[in-house]
Amino acid sequence: NRIVTPTLREDDNEVEGSLRPKSLKEYIGQDKVKNKLKIFIDAAKMRGEALDHVLLYGPPGLGKTTLSNIIANEMGVNIRITSGPAIERPGDLAAILTNLMENDVLFIDEIHRLSRSVEEVLYPSMEDYALDIIIGKGPSARSVRIELPKFTLIGATTRAGMLTSPLRDRFGVICKLDLYSNKDLKTIVQRSSKLLDVPISDEAALEIAKRSRGTPRIVNRLLKRVRDFAQVVEDGYINLDIAKKALKMLEVDDLGLDGVDRKILVSMIEKFDGGPVGLDTLSASTGEEKNTVEDVIEPFLLQLGFIKRTPRGRILTRKAYEHMGLDFHQRDGD
Ligand code: ADP
Repeated sequence: NRIVTPTLREDDNEVEGSLRPKSLKEYIGQDKVKNKLKIFIDAAKMRGEALDHVLLYGPPGLGKTTLSNIIANEMGVNIRITSGPAIERPGDLAAILTNLMENDVLFIDEIHRLSRSVEEVLYPSMEDYALDIIIGKGPSARSVRIELPKFTLIGATTRAGMLTSPLRDRFGVICKLDLYSNKDLKTIVQRSSKLLDVPISDEAALEIAKRSRGTPRIVNRLLKRVRDFAQVVEDGYINLDIAKKALKMLEVDDLGLDGVDRKILVSMIEKFDGGPVGLDTLSASTGEEKNTVEDVIEPFLLQLGFIKRTPRGRILTRKAYEHMGLDFHQRDGD
């Protein structure tokens, strides 16, 4: 239930739909990814063909689903949205694929969670636009090939390394989404506040951006909370003072850290003298799931320069000690 979790919370739905950019032009930041996609989209449109399969990877809340919708919009085709765990059996995937129209987009979120048997059906579908179905059992079993419409698979995952290599190799376009800069996040706050009709000062927009952990989903969520605060205690205008007070009340510090991050940092300092400490030990000692530590907590601490990865494990940096108000001791080999 963290206010700064990058994964979807129930209370996000109410605003996320209305704030989602619909075109590449409206999609803020990620310039490298946008430029690359624009070229591929334009080329596919010129040839009147389906776009090559696209793999989007990066931490949650950075705009993978949004970008997939934009790709379908820009291509002028339909999008069908599903996720790895939702496709339980090969038959489920076959049903989805046979219902697509020519050039449509199929978006599979959490694609690393597809089962082996489903993945095997996906290979010929991606490569030859065909499904091989086995009919019957035993010696009389035979394989029947069903032609599929040409389509674009867009797969999303938090880490590309979690995909099997045969699956990864079948994507023609691979894009990594990075955490956003404060400048881009500020632009997102300003865009969202216009859409939500919330007046906000430049400084306040930057303040919310700075505490949003490089993540658009978090920036929109914090903006919404600060707006509520401004409406209750003031006339609704968000100035720097109001933004700071609201964020303090939400217990998000000036770098966007909350209690969970501090728990990790304190644990590394008190139990492991700043590291090196392995991911398994860290997750066991803090009670946070290993995946959560690796996909959600750590990327941001790495971006802040609070943690360094070494072959022996994670170590805390001087910056982290200073932020926690503690003295830093140089360790051997640092
Ligand atoms: P993911 O699929 O990576 O978890 P989403 O695509 O659901 O992330 O994005 C979360 C929210 O963040 C969206 O509802 C959207 O409003 C906002 N968002 C994401 N990327 C951008 C962007 N580049 N510009 C503006 N808003 C964005």
